[in-house]
Amino acid sequence: MTPIPPQPPEHQSASPFRRPQNPFDSGSFLLAVIAGIPIRIHFTFLLLLVLVAATGIGGNQGHSLISVIYVILLFACVVLHELGHALTARRYGIRTYDIVLYPIGGVARLQNLPDVKSELWIALAGPAVNVVLAALLGIAIAAAGVPFDPSQIPAPLPRLVVDLFWSNIALFAFNMLPAFPMDGGRVLRSFLAKYLDVLVATRIAASIGQGLALLLGLWSLFTLNPLLLLIAVFVFVAAGQEANAYQTHLLATGHTVREAMLRDFHTLSVGDTLRTAAEKLLSGSQHDFPVVFGEEVQGVLTRADLLRGLAQEGPDAYVAGVMQRDFTYVYPNTDLEQVLQAFTPNKPILVMEPPQTPTDSPKLIGMLNQENVLEFLIISHFNSRPHRLD
Ligand SMILES: [Zn+2]
Repeated sequence: MTPIPPQPPEHQSASPFRRPQNPFDSGSFLLAVIAGIPIRIHFTFLLLLVLVAATGIGGNQGHSLISVIYVILLFACVVLHELGHALTARRYGIRTYDIVLYPIGGVARLQNLPDVKSELWIALAGPAVNVVLAALLGIAIAAAGVPFDPSQIPAPLPRLVVDLFWSNIALFAFNMLPAFPMDGGRVLRSFLAKYLDVLVATRIAASIGQGLALLLGLWSLFTLNPLLLLIAVFVFVAAGQEANAYQTHLLATGHTVREAMLRDFHTLSVGDTLRTAAEKLLSGSQHDFPVVFGEEVQGVLTRADLLRGLAQEGPDAYVAGVMQRDFTYVYPNTDLEQVLQAFTPNKPILVMEPPQTPTDSPKLIGMLNQENVLEFLIISHFNSRPHRLD
């Protein structure tokens, strides 16, 4: 059996780090690129369009062309809202990965998470666009002498303009709800972070978001509204994801693998039996073992591998036959945040010193597992200042 050589850490860390952390990532497609920012549509947004067309939201059932124009213009307002976020983020030196349009109004996915202060302005910029749009439409409506009550307008074209006015008011109000993942949630978090630990502030904003999502979900069941249910599920999932991603980012920023790695650990040799491995497992708190041949790492044996091996092959089988030859390693100076994205459940990441010469192989100096990394992050967060923002 030939061992699979570990891949260089650059390859392993780059792609998971760039993978957008979004629950509905796969279901979107590229629509356009504006100001260098890809605009994507998520399939649930298309469901919204279908619903709008079918139910005639906007009151123009008799005028299908006007309905289609209304939907396209509404969609343009959402894009402008997101561009408000993205272009403000650019002013703070933060690039936007892309803009994805969901039924609740779209998400500008920033490549780096902003600090809490600049996030306040980035968050406010989106709803501010809707305020400006509503003001412009309102001035036009007032100037034309059209009533603001849509039910009093029989002509389709003025009705379209009034509908767009109210749609922008609705977009503003919905996005300013003080709950993650809405913009209002970020504003709330910025506000709370003045008085509370940033992590606590993030958790509160996410909990309010999930609480609102539950209420919205219940309401959608009572009113049999599938669109509301869809939004409720989205808000619930996104609030949790958002809070976790932010927490990880906040905790891991500025730390390297070297600080967090376990230095004191046991290894197994390829020629050891599972009986020896089981004795090592029982004699200490270590669950996973690097397997070496001489100085060189050949694989890892996790507790699950060991138990499976014992059940299938018995205690006299060799570690080499049961271990995983495919393992991940990183260099000690790698950013901890990158590594957190690369973890697979219940599998350790090995830490190797880079080889000194091209013919050398990397030298094993440490191990990381999710548990010990999280402990390290939480302890170092609460040992350091400041927790609050001024
Ligand atoms: Zn927004």
